[in-house]
Parts: sequence; C-alpha cells; structure tokens
Amino acid sequence: MSNPVERLLGRLEKVRPNGPHRWMACCPAHKDGSPSLSIKEAEGGRALIHCFAGCNAGDVVAAVGLTLADLFPRQPGRPRNHWRNERLRAALRHEQDVLTVALADLDAGRTPSPEDAQRAFAARRRIDKLQERLSEPQRL
Ligand SMILES: [Zn+2]
Repeated sequence: MSNPVERLLGRLEKVRPNGPHRWMACCPAHKDGSPSLSIKEAEGGRALIHCFAGCNAGDVVAAVGLTLADLFPRQPGRPRNHWRNERLRAALRHEQDVLTVALADLDAGRTPSPEDAQRAFAARRRIDKLQERLSEPQRL
C-alpha cells in the first residue's frame, strides 16, 4: 500500500532526505536543475509540498500526473474529501461561535460596536457560503 509521500516521491527526480519526514526533489513544474521542491510528511500521512521557486502545489502534482487529492491519505470508510470537509466544518463552527457571542451580547443588552456588528454580519455570510460548499456534490 502506498501512502501519499511514497506516491509522490516515486514520481520525482533527484529525491534526497532532508531531515525526519522531509525530502527535497527537483520540482517537476519548472525547469529545476537543483532540487527546490520540499516534501514533508505531515500528521495523518498528508504530504505537504513547497516549491522554493514559487510553483503552486496544483501545478507541481499535475506535472507528475497526480491531483491535490493524491496528497491526502485515502482512509477506508472516508470520502476522498474528508479533510476538506473537516476544514469547512471547523470554519463553520468558528463562524457560528462568532455569531453566538454577538447574539449573547445583544441578549445581555449590550450594544455591539460597529466592528463587532460588521464581524457578525460577515459571520452570517460566511456561514451561508460554508454550508453551500459542504452541500456541494462530493468532488475534488
Ligand atoms: Zn517549481
């Protein structure tokens, strides 16, 4: 069974270790003579990549025939975009907390400052957006 880092390293040139759970390799997305792509195995087996020449992660994985989803471990029983949904749900909880605090203030008879009011409206809009994204068909 191959994990995301193995999957990626197997497709890169001039791979060399660069510390625990870290590697350097030539970036496949630009003309790279000496390795400028950093690869790190993060918690949960996710592969983090960074090109010091500034290529974006999507271009780097596309150059070796992978997608951003391939940087994440596939766990049985979990949809491919499990991590994306976790991130969206965490953001949703945060915005709900912001709104709850604002409502508690109002309930206690405190007048929100203009900044707090703006932040609460922003939270309301973000909650709508996040819920929309969470209900999108599962794809990456
Ligand atoms: Zn690059």
